[in-house]
Amino acid sequence: MAHEHTWQLTESGYERTWSTTIDEDTGTVTAYGNGFADFSDDGDGAELRCACGETRSVDNLTVNYL
Ligand SMILES: [Zn+2]
Repeated sequence: MAHEHTWQLTESGYERTWSTTIDEDTGTVTAYGNGFADFSDDGDGAELRCACGETRSVDNLTVNYL
């Protein structure tokens, strides 16, 4: 069954995750950090991941870190 994905922003290689809300109309992701301000510059990149295993690229999204 399809479900509404709960996306968490993840940074490859660092095992960091951010809770997110996504405004699909503007393509804006708001990421809520847990003590870290933003991604490191030398990470392998970020993607959105749901607990079901589905992933989603952020290439066409704007990510704002809180
Ligand atoms: Zn899902």
